[in-house]
Amino acid sequence: MLFDMDGVLWRDQTPIGDLGKIFQNLQLHNIKFAFATNNSTKSPSEYQDKLNKFGISVKEEQIITSATTLVELLKEKYPDGGPVHILGENGLREALQQNGFHHSDRNVLAVVGGLDRRINYEKLKIATLLLQQEVDFYYTNADTTFPTPEGIIPGAGSILRALEVGSGRNAILAGKPKPKMFEIAMKIINASAESTLVIGDRLDTDILGGLEAKCFTALVLTGISTSEDLKNFAYQPHFVFENLSTLVNNLFHNNWDI
Ligand SMILES: [Mg+2]
Repeated sequence: MLFDMDGVLWRDQTPIGDLGKIFQNLQLHNIKFAFATNNSTKSPSEYQDKLNKFGISVKEEQIITSATTLVELLKEKYPDGGPVHILGENGLREALQQNGFHHSDRNVLAVVGGLDRRINYEKLKIATLLLQQEVDFYYTNADTTFPTPEGIIPGAGSILRALEVGSGRNAILAGKPKPKMFEIAMKIINASAESTLVIGDRLDTDILGGLEAKCFTALVLTGISTSEDLKNFAYQPHFVFENLSTLVNNLFHNNWDI
């Protein structure tokens, strides 16, 4: 089972259901699992702390973010690392630094970006100027919005749009709905697509990405997408559940058979 986190496990700091009990049940029945999020601001170890806090014991390797996925893509082209221009927060910076990439404003291999909540005109300017040279362009994800307790705020994709419009370039994307994140997750837990269920709250990222990765998919109605949205969406998940507890109870009574 591959889980999205925001809107599936929690809303900000509030857990959705008895997460400790849900995951103990999965562990008891030897269901392998990993977590996949488009949020690039936090590192896997920061997510590990949050999961632990909610009673889910998990190894850092089981947590895949759009930032760690971006670094995997970048390493395929630049296995030795090198200078890159980074627009983003701790999660992205840490993942790059751990893999031999360092931040620079000159002579870079690529401009790499994600959600940067300290974005300003100067940062957009430097990145846009670099993008006019022969450098690669990678972005964590294209989600234009980001749900918070305050409401819907600009996501990584809003910054990406500014760079794309300003430079006339299109970025290579790492996060969902690209299947790469799920492919990495399956490799890590040693699972095949036909025996993997992707669980998410967003049709346009989690469900579409899960389908792209050839997995089974389940939408939970505790986050962004509603049952109304399902009617207007070209792709359909294999399952729809009110919440994660209902999903796990159903699977349990079905002998974990999807
Ligand atoms: Mg979500």
